[in-house]
Amino acid sequence: MALIVQKYGGTSVGTIEKIKNVAKKALTAQSAGNQVVVVVSAMGPTTDVLIARLKELTADYDPREYDALVSIGENESAALLAQAIIAQGGRAVSLTGWQAGVETEDNHNKCKITNVRAGRLRQELQAGKIVVVTGFQGLNSRGDVTTIGRGGSDTSAVVIAAALRADICEIYTDVDGIYTTDPHILPEARRLERISHEEMLEMASLGAGVMHPRAVECAKVNNMTIAVKHSQQDGKGTLITMVGEKLNTVSGVAAADDVAKIGLLHVPDVPGMAAELFGALAAARINVDVIVQSIHEEAKKNDISFTVGHDDYAQALKITEAKAGAWGCAVIGDKAVAKVSLVGIGMASAPGVAARMFAALGREKINIQMISTSEIKISCIIAQKELKKALRAVHTEFGLEKC
Ligand code: ADP
Ligand code: ASP
Ligand code: MG
Repeated sequence: MALIVQKYGGTSVGTIEKIKNVAKKALTAQSAGNQVVVVVSAMGPTTDVLIARLKELTADYDPREYDALVSIGENESAALLAQAIIAQGGRAVSLTGWQAGVETEDNHNKCKITNVRAGRLRQELQAGKIVVVTGFQGLNSRGDVTTIGRGGSDTSAVVIAAALRADICEIYTDVDGIYTTDPHILPEARRLERISHEEMLEMASLGAGVMHPRAVECAKVNNMTIAVKHSQQDGKGTLITMVGEKLNTVSGVAAADDVAKIGLLHVPDVPGMAAELFGALAAARINVDVIVQSIHEEAKKNDISFTVGHDDYAQALKITEAKAGAWGCAVIGDKAVAKVSLVGIGMASAPGVAARMFAALGREKINIQMISTSEIKISCIIAQKELKKALRAVHTEFGLEKC
C-alpha cells in the first residue's frame, strides 16, 4: 500500500463540477489500494478576491488580519471536497492547516512551515479516510493563523508528504506537466518527461509559476519525487526527481514579469555603503534579486542597481530614497521590467551559452539592462513589453521546442 499526497490548485477546484471530478480521482487512487491525502488551494480566484476586498478597505492592512482573511478560501474548498467524496460513497474528513498540525514561523504573510505534527493525519488515514487538508495555511507559536505566500499550497503538499514519508507527491494543475517554458506564453514549448529538483528549483525561483520554489526545495532536501499532472486529463505528466531527463545543456527558459528595478546613482565609493542599503532592505524582509554595481567614470562614485518583486517595490523605493537622501545621490525606479532566464544543469560545462543567449536577444534588438548568472542559469533584465519576444528568441536559439 502506497501513501500518496495529491495537491489540486485553484483552477482544478474552481467549480463544483471540478470538485466532484477531484473527489472521483482521490477515490480512484484509494480504491487502487493507497492511502490518500489531498491538499487543496482556494477555488479559482477566491484568494485574489479576498485580497482585493482587504485592499479596498485599507492599503495599510495588519499582516495578522491579512492571514486571518486570505486563509479562508482553502477552508471552503477543503470542506466541499470532503463532502463531495462522502457524497460519492467514500469516507473523508477535511482538516485545516492547524488541525493537520502544520506549524509555521511567527511572522505573517510569507512565513515558512517549520514542522508538521502528523499524528491526526495518520490517525485519520488509519481509519480509512481520505484526508483533505487546506493548503497555504498553518498556525504559529502564538496560536494565530498564518499563510505561507501566494502559490504556497504546493509547499503545503510537499511538506505534508515529507512529514508522512509519502511515496509520491502529485501536483495536479491546469497544464499536463512541466514545459520548457510557460506553454500559455509560447505554444511551441515542449513537455519534459523528467526534470531534476535542482533545475526545477531554478525554474520556479526564476518565475516558472507552475511550482512554488519552496515546494521544490523541500522535495529536494527530502528526496521526494513530485509528479506534475493535468487535473482534468489523463497523462504521464512530468516527474521532478533527483536526476533530470538527460544532461541537457539547457532545460528551459523562465519568465518573470513582476520584477521592478531600482538604481542608486553616484554612490560614494567607500566601504560599507552596500551593506547599509541591503541591510535596511533585509530588515524590512524585502527579497532582493539581481544586484549590479558598476564603477562610475567620476572618481570615487559608483552606481548600484537591484531588482525586487512588484509587491516590495514601493517599500524598497522608500528605503532606498531615504539612504539616497542621506548620501546625496539620486534614485531611479522602473516597474516595467521583466526577467528572462535560461536554466540548465549542463551549462556549467558548456562554454558559449551566455554568448548565444545575448546574441539571440541582440538579433531581436532587445536591450539587456542587467545580467546575473549562476552555474546553472543566466538571467537578463529587459523591458517588460519585450518579454514574449525575448522568451521566443532564447527558446528557439537553444532548439527547446524539438525533442
Ligand atoms: P495551480 O492553480 O494549479 O497552482 P498555477 O497557475 O500556479 O496553477 O500554475 C500553473 C501555470 O503555470 C500554468 O497554467 C502555466 O501557465 C504556468 N507555467 C509557468 N511556467 C511553466 C512551465 N515551465 N511549465 C508549465 N507551466 C508553466
Ligand atoms: N490560494 C493561495 C493563492 O492563491 C494558495 C495557492 O493557491 O497555492 O495564492
Ligand atoms: Mg500554483
